[in-house]
Amino acid sequence: MFDVIIIGGGFGGLSSAALLSRKGKKVLLIESRKRLGGRAHYIEKDGFVWQYGQHSHRLGPDGHANQVMTRLGEPMTFYETDQKKAKLFYKGRLYDRPNGPAGFLTTQALSFKAKLVFLRLYVKILQEDATLWYDKTLIDFYKSFFKPNREVEGFLNFLGFTIMLPDASIVSAGEVIDFIKRVNKSKIPVADVAGGSKHIIDRLEAVIIKNGGIIKASEKVMKLSVNGRKIDSVETDKGLYQSEMVVYAAPVKYLTEIIDASFFDSRFLNHIKNLKNSGGVIIDFISHEPLSDLEGGILGVDEPLWVKFQTLFDKTVAPRGYHVCTWGLLTAWGQTNNPDAFRATEKRLREIAAICMPGYRNKVIDERKVIIPVVNANMLIPSQSRPHRPSIKSVFLDNLYMAGDTVNGHGCSGDIAFSSALMLDDMIQ
Ligand SMILES: Cc1cc2nc3c(=O)[nH]c(=O)nc-3n(C[C@H](O)[C@H](O)[C@H](O)COP(=O)(O)OP(=O)(O)OC[C@H]3O[C@@H](n4cnc5c(N)ncnc54)[C@H](O)[C@@H]3O)c2cc1C
Repeated sequence: MFDVIIIGGGFGGLSSAALLSRKGKKVLLIESRKRLGGRAHYIEKDGFVWQYGQHSHRLGPDGHANQVMTRLGEPMTFYETDQKKAKLFYKGRLYDRPNGPAGFLTTQALSFKAKLVFLRLYVKILQEDATLWYDKTLIDFYKSFFKPNREVEGFLNFLGFTIMLPDASIVSAGEVIDFIKRVNKSKIPVADVAGGSKHIIDRLEAVIIKNGGIIKASEKVMKLSVNGRKIDSVETDKGLYQSEMVVYAAPVKYLTEIIDASFFDSRFLNHIKNLKNSGGVIIDFISHEPLSDLEGGILGVDEPLWVKFQTLFDKTVAPRGYHVCTWGLLTAWGQTNNPDAFRATEKRLREIAAICMPGYRNKVIDERKVIIPVVNANMLIPSQSRPHRPSIKSVFLDNLYMAGDTVNGHGCSGDIAFSSALMLDDMIQ
């Protein structure tokens, strides 16, 4: 009999298992895949550390990932990259990336008039209460206070991209406001962990094992049996287990594959059935010389692009003499199951790479392409904003808890997963 069974070994499940095992709980973590890490897993091959998407962490040392690791006595080191070498890709060319409110005054991407409006908008965002705006889009927010201005409205996508949804007409204004207020306090929008996701996953695994937790990889949970209002057994493809509590740490969309839907109400079932995620194409380009000196990377404004030149700051990801840069472009919203959309996305990604790094094709010696159906399992549209996401302690079953990037944690993407584990840890004595 375990105190806690955790289903899923991604950032959410591993963090929950590490925090609860450190508290003295007898923990069993079950992960269906061979590798731990979920959507942040990595593979080591021929001297390269291939990440399934190069992960950055919002707010760096002040962010949720580092809060988890600090609580575990494992604070992380972050690379200090030169933010002056960070760019925006906008209207087909590169611009310096504004860093903080003053950056909007100096950016070449906006006309003088638009700069002033953007700065006023930024100040307005800092004054507003996020809770009043979760159900509205960023465009709604803009239009409530400012006159129509197509240039500013187009550039709002950049603020949406800070929480991985660069479309002001669908991103929740409350989520943007909440994030920008947090960045304003922290002063560090985003940073990379020394050692990357590999460091985080390896350390979390080590903490779980050190505290007596058990990890079973390559084992899939098939069924949760319920007695009254409690889960009384967890059946996998290899065995049957019992525990006082169960933490479901995989995207909530799949919860009803392992537990009867009749235990939940229609609101919850509709939420998980209609949950929208984003997909994308990632290409790692390998070369013998750096393809750029932009150590701060590139973010798209009118196209959902993100780029990292990681060997400029992290030499551990490639063998000596090799350089890796990672290019990612999200598919059009709602097109994550459409092969044509992935093909079009890849084509556009290569076109943008040629614009930003003229002649790069002659320098690339190899590449690694990954088609990713789920980048963020929870796009931050109003109906999926924080107040609408399922609570960490289930209201339907007494010993069911949930963690991961589709539940009620703070922030966006991986932040939600780390934050949900912190909240779970606060709830459990
Ligand atoms: C390419 C890419 C780039 C990204 N970049 C960033 C970034 O820069 N910053 C950021 O914050 N976030 C980023 N993200 C998002 C981030 O990876 C996710 O938000 C985070 O990893 C989600 O963790 P999770 O634990 O919630 O879920 P997951 O990582 O999906 O983990 C769930 C785990 O549960 C397992 N599982 C599911 N069902 C079962 C079952 N029945 N039995 C046993 N195991 C099961 C799955 O195999 C999986 O390992 C990125 C994602 C991708 C794909």
